[in-house]
Amino acid sequence: MRRRFKIVLGALTMAATAIPAAIVYAEANDAEQSAFREAVKFGFSGEAIQGGVMIGDAPAGTASLSFDGEAVPVDEDGKFIIAFNRDAGQAANLVATLDNGETVRKFINIAPRNWKIEHVSINRRATTRSAAFMARRGPELAQINAARSVTSDSKGWRETFVWPVKGRISGQFGSQRIYNGDPGSYHSGVDVAAPAGTYYVAPADGVVTLAASSPFTLEGNLLMIDHGMGLNSAFLHSSEILVKEGQEVKRGQPIGRIGSTGSATGPHLHWSMKWNQARIDPILLTGPME
Ligand SMILES: [Zn+2]
Repeated sequence: MRRRFKIVLGALTMAATAIPAAIVYAEANDAEQSAFREAVKFGFSGEAIQGGVMIGDAPAGTASLSFDGEAVPVDEDGKFIIAFNRDAGQAANLVATLDNGETVRKFINIAPRNWKIEHVSINRRATTRSAAFMARRGPELAQINAARSVTSDSKGWRETFVWPVKGRISGQFGSQRIYNGDPGSYHSGVDVAAPAGTYYVAPADGVVTLAASSPFTLEGNLLMIDHGMGLNSAFLHSSEILVKEGQEVKRGQPIGRIGSTGSATGPHLHWSMKWNQARIDPILLTGPME
C-alpha cells in the first residue's frame, strides 16, 4: 500500500508542485487527522434493528441532539442512547447541533425483524371488561404512566444488561397472534419460566419507580425500574417484590420473586422494556441466555 502511494505521490510531484505539499502534510498528520474525523462524527455500539438499542458517542462540541425531531439528552462524556420501536419504520434521522452552530447528521437504516406471527382461525377473545375491572384499571394505568414519566439520574442505561433470571424462554418479545385476520396486540416483553418463589435480579442499575402494594389486574405485583435517559424495565406477575419505590438498585441485586399474580397461566417473569415511547426487546440488551 505504502509503496503504491509513494508512486502516486511521485507522479503528482511531477504534475504540480503545490499538491504534494498538501498530501505530505496529510500523511504526517494522519493520526491527528483521523482523530479529528472521529471527533466530528457519531460513533455507535448496538444494532439499528426493530426493537433494538444503540449507545452513541455524540460528535465533539455537540450542544444538542435530536432523534426524528425529538430531543435526546447527552451525558457529560458525550454518550447517549436511542432505541427503535418494535414497529419502527426503515429510516431514522439523528442530528447533532454543535456549539458553533454547525449540524452533523446521521441517517440510520433500521433493519426489520421477522416477528413470530401466528395465524389462528379462531375469533379474538371478546374483551368485555366488567365494571369492577374498569374501575380498577384507570388508576392502575395512571400509576404506570406516572412511573414511566420519572426520569432518574441512573447510569444503568450505560451498562451491559444481565438476565434477571435464567430459565426457559416461554414467550418472545414481539410475537403476535392474528385471529381470523384480526391482529391481537403483540407480546410486549420476554417471558422466562421459572419455579414460583425463584429470586430475580436487577438487569442493570436503576431506581425503583413503581412497587405495587397489591396486585394489578393484569400485571399482578408490578415492579418498574428506571435506568436513566428514558430507558426503563417492568417486571410482571411477581409473588413478592423486595424493593421499595425510590430505592436505588444495583445490577445483580435480588429485587423480586417469580410468581403468577395477575393475568398469568403459570409462574414466570414477564420483563418488558421501553425507551421513551419505543417498546424494545430485552434480549438485544442482554444477548442470548447462556
Ligand atoms: Zn409475557
